[in-house]
Amino acid sequence: MRRLEGKVAIITGAARGIGYSIAEMLSEHGAISVIIDLDQGAVNSAIKQIDDQGNRAIGFTADVTNSQEIASIFKEIHNEFGKIDILINNAGITKDGLLMKMKESDWDAVININLKGTFICTQKVSRYMLKSRSGVIINIASVIGLIGNAGQANYAASKGGIIALTKSSAKEFASRNIRVNAIAPGFIKTEMTDKLPQEVIDNYLAAIPLSCMGTVRDVANLCIFLASEEAGYITGQTIQVDGGLIM
Ligand code: NAP
Repeated sequence: MRRLEGKVAIITGAARGIGYSIAEMLSEHGAISVIIDLDQGAVNSAIKQIDDQGNRAIGFTADVTNSQEIASIFKEIHNEFGKIDILINNAGITKDGLLMKMKESDWDAVININLKGTFICTQKVSRYMLKSRSGVIINIASVIGLIGNAGQANYAASKGGIIALTKSSAKEFASRNIRVNAIAPGFIKTEMTDKLPQEVIDNYLAAIPLSCMGTVRDVANLCIFLASEEAGYITGQTIQVDGGLIM
């Protein structure tokens, strides 16, 4: 069943990993996926992959921390399609290190891209959604934003901030029929987790009741539900996709 026929959906950080999978699945459900990412070649190949499946995607190269660039891209998308239905704030990075030794530049980079980038894209899309009195925003947080993690103070703070931002924007936008929710993935197999040492991977696997890593499609499936009308009475929530890691 195609649940999002004709919807216009922007997905940040969607040239690969979880973001790409969300874009691919949104398109499978009939949406036009607008991929935003840093590298033009990666954006082009993501679009081609979706195109080859007979589905629709377009793309832009942009940094989510550049508010002028984001504003002008969102304007272009709105001019082209006359609406923006869905925003998925997915772009995110890690720069791990113990708090005692963490460089301020690593703190700033993670907070800027993960948290401020989510704020910027939410603010820039809100003018269109508020006017049309409809919209869905989904923020990709992390279980680390709920429980914290040694060596990830910057990342945990950014993801905890995203969860708080989700609740505040859900309260601000609810009266205009705009729903805002967050997804907190656990341990999902992507390039971000591929770079972790085997010992860290083994420790995670031992702590996950379902005893395996999640897939990018596990996260994308929840996104489709939250973006659909079936989730029409859900806003301000953070939903985990983590194999039972936290309960
Ligand atoms: P990924 O494989 O590293 O992909 C992230 C994408 O975002 C990359 O294409 C990256 O581009 C892009 N990006 C980075 N900075 C950007 C910026 N400033 N503007 C626009 N795009 C930018 O990561 P992932 O594992 O798919 O993670 C996606 C999201 O899920 C992140 O928010 C992450 O924190 C969250 N998450 C992941 C896991 C997990 O287990 N994988 C768990 C919990 C939460 P470049 O490649 O050019 O840098």
